[in-house]
Parts: sequence; C-alpha cells; structure tokens
Amino acid sequence: MAVDAVVFDWGGTLTPWHTIDVYESWLQTTGDPDTAVRLAEAENLLWAGSRDEQRSGTLSALLDSVGVPPTTELLRRYSDWWEPHTLTDPDVPVVFAALKTRGIRIGVLSNTIWTRAEHERIFERDGVLAAIDGAVYTSEIPWTKPHPEAFRAALDAVDVDDPARAVFVGDRLFDDIHGAKAVGMRAVLVPHSDIPPVQVGPHIGEPDAVVDRLVDLVTIIDGWL
Ligand SMILES: [Mg+2]
Repeated sequence: MAVDAVVFDWGGTLTPWHTIDVYESWLQTTGDPDTAVRLAEAENLLWAGSRDEQRSGTLSALLDSVGVPPTTELLRRYSDWWEPHTLTDPDVPVVFAALKTRGIRIGVLSNTIWTRAEHERIFERDGVLAAIDGAVYTSEIPWTKPHPEAFRAALDAVDVDDPARAVFVGDRLFDDIHGAKAVGMRAVLVPHSDIPPVQVGPHIGEPDAVVDRLVDLVTIIDGWL
C-alpha cells in the first residue's frame, strides 16, 4: 500500500496525556469559585455534546454562555494555566522528520475549543509547526471526531482523496480509532491516556496497530509501505 499522509490527534497523542481538573482551570483563570463552577458545568456539557452528537464548540462561545467577557487578561491566565499541559512529545520532531523523508504529508485533527492561533503558537513554541502540512481544529468546523465530516476535512487539509492511503494516530478508541476506521483510514492507537469514563463514547474502534512510543510509528508505517 501507499501512505500519502499521516494525521495526528493532538491531546494525549502529539502531547502526552495529563488529567485535567476543569474546575481548577477555571478557578485559576477567573479567581471566582461560583464563575468557575458555571464554566466547568458549561464545558462538561459542551464535551457531552461532542461525545453524543459530535457537535463542536468554541472557547469564546463557552465564555459567552456564562456571561464572562473574553478579556485579554482572562485569556492569558487561561493559557498560562494550560501551558504545562501542552508540551509536545519529544518523539514528535523525530517522527515528523522520518515521515518527511518518506514523502509522507503530516496532518493534525484535534477536537478542541481553542483557536487555530493558540494551537499554532504551541506548535511553534516546540519547533514543529513548519512540518505540519494541514490541520483541522474542530473549533473551526461544525463537527467533532468521530463524525466522518471531521475526518474528511482533515483528509482535504492534507490533500488526500483516498482515505485508504492515509493513517490516523490517536489516543481515543471512539473519537480517533472508530472514527478513522469508519471513513476507511488505517488507525494507530497511542494507549497511554487515562480517558475519563464519561468521555469514552459508545463505539470502541479496533486499531490496525498500537505503539508504545510515537517513534515506533515509523516502523509500523515502513511495514505498510
Ligand atoms: Mg486525544
């Protein structure tokens, strides 16, 4: 087979999994326990909508839904709180370089409420932005993974017509593996994330391969070429 592109999930895949206390993120961001409770409830509701109906959302709409103005200072505190949880896996530059030398394009498809600018700032900070050929952040489209339209948008972003010539790499059996397989992609699982039970989802995908470390992906891809 040919592999034209590899599309990566972000959280728990390109960046190692951290369990996040959503309430704590909003408490440190707003400094107000009542507002933090309302924001945490609204965010949990948003992610339930993603799980059940693959509806996407945005940070600005989330803040608006509880009447919190998205001031520069507030967004900075939110971003600062998240910063230690966004570090790119040290394997990523190695894997990206290996894929490039094989002529394979690199994509990203992330279920996220953050803006493209925030994700690109993180990738640029860690020196990997330039290697990414195409990225879809679900804050910019109506759907989240595992909706087929999210995967089709990602395939378009890396200019792949035939899903069988693309590989998806992710840490979630529902959103990533089930979703990618349903549109005809190959799927590789990175199995280190402690997915909260409420986020697991109703369908468990069967990965074509499982990698203990991202760098092991190169051997898997070479075996398919
Ligand atoms: Mg993930």
